[in-house]
Amino acid sequence: MSFKDIVGQEKAVNILLKSLKEDKVSPSYIFIGNEGVGKKFTAIEFAKTISCLNLNNNLEACDTCNICNKINKQCYPDLKIIEPIKSSIKIEQIRELRREINLKPFKNRKKIYIIDQAEEMTIEASNCLLKTIEEPPAYAIIILICINTDSILPTIISRCRLIKFRLIDSSKIRKTLLNKINLEKSKAELVSKLAQGSIGKAFKLISDKEYFNRREKLLDYLNKVLPGKYDSNFFINIEKILMDINNIEEMLEIILLWYRDILIIKELGIKEYIINSDKIEVLKEKSRVYSKEMLIDILDYIEQIKEFMKKNINRRLVSERLYLKMVGVEYCLR
Ligand SMILES: [Zn+2]
Repeated sequence: MSFKDIVGQEKAVNILLKSLKEDKVSPSYIFIGNEGVGKKFTAIEFAKTISCLNLNNNLEACDTCNICNKINKQCYPDLKIIEPIKSSIKIEQIRELRREINLKPFKNRKKIYIIDQAEEMTIEASNCLLKTIEEPPAYAIIILICINTDSILPTIISRCRLIKFRLIDSSKIRKTLLNKINLEKSKAELVSKLAQGSIGKAFKLISDKEYFNRREKLLDYLNKVLPGKYDSNFFINIEKILMDINNIEEMLEIILLWYRDILIIKELGIKEYIINSDKIEVLKEKSRVYSKEMLIDILDYIEQIKEFMKKNINRRLVSERLYLKMVGVEYCLR
């Protein structure tokens, strides 16, 4: 693996390579971007490029020297990855970093610390880290990885070089899937769309053997839901589906993308924007029976449910309400 293997993050990679070329590597970075867009992978490859013993003229790590090998096996002592323990990064973890970082590395090399999911640092941990970020040893590089910087101290942010990671084009994800995995073209097309810019998600969907069965079952069900077709058996069906799907977030996302696609066909009619690329004909039919107003209402309500879920609101109640929206009871009674 090397920088070349990073998909769709040319801009971020070029900034890092330029700083290496010009010998202006920053002592601290924040890599920011959605889940699964390659932040951690890039941080590790950056560490490899900084530490490799046989770096070539294009600044490519050899991937075979002693250090590259150790980094690949995650046992290089001068690269540490700090991650949340039980959903938070605690002050003890940062205290340990502070103790270690002061021990000089071997043979004038760099010491690199990657703090993954940095937004999960407790406030005490953040304050403790701030002291190191304010006065880092010359040989140290700290990389914070996060989805957003909302919960990171502004005093930390202001001392770090911010590197943005973008959502990846579905065409690039598709190409990577076809090159790396023996996947049918239509499946690669569908997965690249469902991944919504995250290569990590694409691989996760492929490795989850049951995902496509769960999706198919739910889409079959959604296909049967029609505006004005109110049937009390559907409540029983909803419950069945809720029991089957252990992950309500996943279910909501499938429903959201379904109605989003119907709205897009109805309003724009552009096939390329459709995520459920294997269901275009059914979606077209649906776009004729739903009004724009109703679709927007359903989509709004799903967004609301996502907020409700954070507050542990009764799932059954919410699902029933969603179902009522899907069959358009409010619209039919008017
Ligand atoms: Zn090497």
